[in-house]
Amino acid sequence: MTPMDRHPDRRSPLVFDTTELSRRAGTMREVGRTVPAPADLGLEVIAVPEGSDVELDLRLEAVVEGVLVTGTATVQLQGECARCLTGIEDEMSFDLQELFFHPGREVDEDERLVDDESIDLEPTLRDAVVMDLPFTPLCREDCLGLCPECGADLNDDPDHEHDLAVDPRWSKLVGLDVEE
Ligand SMILES: [Zn+2]
Ligand SMILES: [Zn+2]
Repeated sequence: MTPMDRHPDRRSPLVFDTTELSRRAGTMREVGRTVPAPADLGLEVIAVPEGSDVELDLRLEAVVEGVLVTGTATVQLQGECARCLTGIEDEMSFDLQELFFHPGREVDEDERLVDDESIDLEPTLRDAVVMDLPFTPLCREDCLGLCPECGADLNDDPDHEHDLAVDPRWSKLVGLDVEE
């Protein structure tokens, strides 16, 4: 079963009832809601932890073509700095905008419909988050990363240098030359 065949699950906190809006064009509803984040929201390197708070601040408007949703989603992020591997915890807001067309209309694959008098914002949220997340998250813009020779965090020790010969204690580890 493809997602297109499935009606929005009304138990999902990201599904909104649009019965009132669909009946009266020109009406508008503001919704502030905190919902638990769905699973797998984000990228491998940085993502929204499942179940963490997603703050939605939305405006649902009945327009001629359907229901227009605009607003923001503020989410918690957890990831790893691409240079120094330090854990990153952050909060980020994403703009949401989606027009859900009245049912019965031919739509493109990336367009959405009002279905069963409700709209499902999960795909909209997913698209917004995935498109805006950095592919190489950094703990800070000028993160210095790790020393390619010994793995030391250069943010802690920016003047860190190596002589031509690698530190003997380290070469011992590399060679697994461990005395028993
Ligand atoms: Zn870093
Ligand atoms: Zn080093």
